[in-house]
Amino acid sequence: MTATDQSASASPLAGLGRMIAISSGKGGVGKSTLTANLALALAGQGLRVGVVDADLYGPSIPGMLGIPGDQPPTMAPNNKVIPAQAHGVRVISMAMLSGDDRPAILRGPMVTKYLQMFITQVDWGTLDVLLLDLPPGTGDIQLTLAQAFPLSGAVVVSTPQDVSLKIVRRGLRMLEQVNVPILGVVENMSGFTCPSCGEVTHIFHQGGGQKIADSLNVPFLGSIPLDPAVVDGGDTGRPLILDAPDSPAAQAYHAVAAAL
Ligand code: ADP
Repeated sequence: MTATDQSASASPLAGLGRMIAISSGKGGVGKSTLTANLALALAGQGLRVGVVDADLYGPSIPGMLGIPGDQPPTMAPNNKVIPAQAHGVRVISMAMLSGDDRPAILRGPMVTKYLQMFITQVDWGTLDVLLLDLPPGTGDIQLTLAQAFPLSGAVVVSTPQDVSLKIVRRGLRMLEQVNVPILGVVENMSGFTCPSCGEVTHIFHQGGGQKIADSLNVPFLGSIPLDPAVVDGGDTGRPLILDAPDSPAAQAYHAVAAAL
């Protein structure tokens, strides 16, 4: 994807570029970690990238990108919220509004309001791509976004084991029903390479992501290996892709970004 491609396919929400949702059937599969690393990979391609942390009830993007949770956003002269900046990427998250240790207590209509605000009332400037880190599952937030905004498509993240894949299949069907194009499936936590002997162990099995992509006739975007450095990157606010760009996991994130 290049900056030129982006301007050629301008989104109806002027200046926001392609809106790409990162989704998963269940939590803990690495969706936010993928979002953070993809955002930096796309920024590394020279694209102007924004991230909406649409996981209103469990926002984790600011922590993963090293954005302090105790700095409320400021307003621009046009009365829009100025997004946080981290590693060259613009970010809005519930964690910046409510603090990252206070729960967001929101009923359905408020959820819609916040999502609309995150997209239309933030001073994004001009973007080439806006990534939306969705909460897991197929609830209100996913439906609101799919119905209210012209999503270019969704990337679906799964771990390789069967139970996860069954849930992914359900999520994919929901996205299809609301006419969101599936850009592809990413298999995360695919295999662990022993640092001492180099042997690869497929802790959560392997190949499931490819299988589900084939069976649903959507692209398979790649496998991200299981790597403790990915966890450290998320915990320290410096995604792995920044400090270990040659690692297999970073290369895998770059490959997914290149396929979008
Ligand atoms: P989700 O957004 O799907 O709930 P997260 O991105 O928060 O999942 O990831 C859950 C946990 O798994 C985090 O501790 C994260 O660091 C870890 N994790 C994600 N991807 C990998 C990976 N490829 N290798 C090792 N740990 C990972």
